[in-house]
Amino acid sequence: MSAPQPLPDGGPLTRTPLRVLRDHGSVDLAGAERAVSDLLRALGRDPGSPHLAETPRRVAAAYAELLTAPPFDLTTFPNDEGYNELVLASDIPVQSLCEHHLLPFSGRATIGYLPGDRILGLSKLVRVLDLFARDLQVQERLTQQVADWLQENLEPRGVGVVIEAEHQCMSLRGVRARGSRTTTSALHGLLREDARSRQEFFALTGRGGR
Ligand code: ZN
Repeated sequence: MSAPQPLPDGGPLTRTPLRVLRDHGSVDLAGAERAVSDLLRALGRDPGSPHLAETPRRVAAAYAELLTAPPFDLTTFPNDEGYNELVLASDIPVQSLCEHHLLPFSGRATIGYLPGDRILGLSKLVRVLDLFARDLQVQERLTQQVADWLQENLEPRGVGVVIEAEHQCMSLRGVRARGSRTTTSALHGLLREDARSRQEFFALTGRGGR
């Protein structure tokens, strides 16, 4: 984390340049287009047919978009009010690509933290999730990465992340378990160690029974 820099009005803030965290934008669009043409051919389809003429370009662009997170500036603020209760963002839409099948999984996430010395804009919780979701993922790792990143960069007293998602590789193929949802969670600090904090977090996420 970089040293605190002065705000225009003189207050302290911390900026963490995210480009050091993840290097997206490495998609070779022309190469991806050629590969999609090859894939169509291997699947017994004719990429030269008028119906499929634009498909390789569209597929390459779609994957590039799904795998590239827009850059953002993470700015944290001093917790001047001494707020020490849970900050929780729930029902955040999440979509990612399963690394096993390159098929989407999508659902909802809840991200909460117990502030320490610094707090974070709520929209930034959504951005952190998006940053890791725009990748080839498994849901367990995505959940853990968001929790780890917040723990390392915000240094709160506790962090909790819950993701509930439906995987198209399960609903469209294989066992065809349409509608089945997978829930994963990752906890750090007090949300992991302190039973009362953990209960409060899961109660607020609507999973009080855990
Ligand atoms: Zn899969």
